[in-house]
Amino acid sequence: MRKEKSDACPVCGVGDLKRITGEFTTEVEGPDGRPMKLSVPGVTWRHCASCGEDLLDDNASKAITKAHRAALKLLPAEEIHSLRQGLGKTQAQMSELLGIGEKTYSRWESGTHFQSEAFDRYLRLLQVPEVLDALNEIRLFKEGSTDSPTSTFTYVEAVEAYEHVGECSRRSAPACWFAASA
Ligand SMILES: [Zn+2]
Repeated sequence: MRKEKSDACPVCGVGDLKRITGEFTTEVEGPDGRPMKLSVPGVTWRHCASCGEDLLDDNASKAITKAHRAALKLLPAEEIHSLRQGLGKTQAQMSELLGIGEKTYSRWESGTHFQSEAFDRYLRLLQVPEVLDALNEIRLFKEGSTDSPTSTFTYVEAVEAYEHVGECSRRSAPACWFAASA
C-alpha cells in the first residue's frame, strides 16, 4: 500500500517518520567559531528510521536557535525587543542609533540572525543611561550638528599618544581613533 506523502521522508522518500519528544542534540558553531555540541531538552521532531534524517518544524528550529543564542551568551531576541521598547524607539531609530541597517537590526529582534559578540556588548551597554547620552552625542557629531562627539572622549592626535593605545595601535578599527581621556 502506498503511503501518504506526509508519512514519507522528504529526504529519502521511503522512511517511516517517527515523532520524538525529548532532548535534541546537534552541532552548532561555538563562540570561538569552532563546532560545539548543543543539547536542547523538550524538543519535538520527526526522525526517519531509513536515512537517519531529523526533520525539524518551525517550533523546533526556533527552540534550537534560542538555545544556541543562549549558549553563546548573546542577548535573547525578546530582550533586544524589550530593550528597544524601554528606550521608546522604533526599529528605524534603533538602527540609526547603532549605526547599522534597519534590516540587520530587525533580524536580531525577530531572532533569525545573531548579533555579533561586539554588538552584543554594545547592546548591553545601552542599558546604561550615560552610554545612551554619549551615543546620542556621537550621532549628532556624525550628522555634523556638534563639534565634539562627547567631552569624555578625545581624538588621539600625537603619535606618542597613539602608541600608548597599545593593542589598538596595531589595528585599524575606527574605535582606535578615540581614546578615553584620563
Ligand atoms: Zn529518510
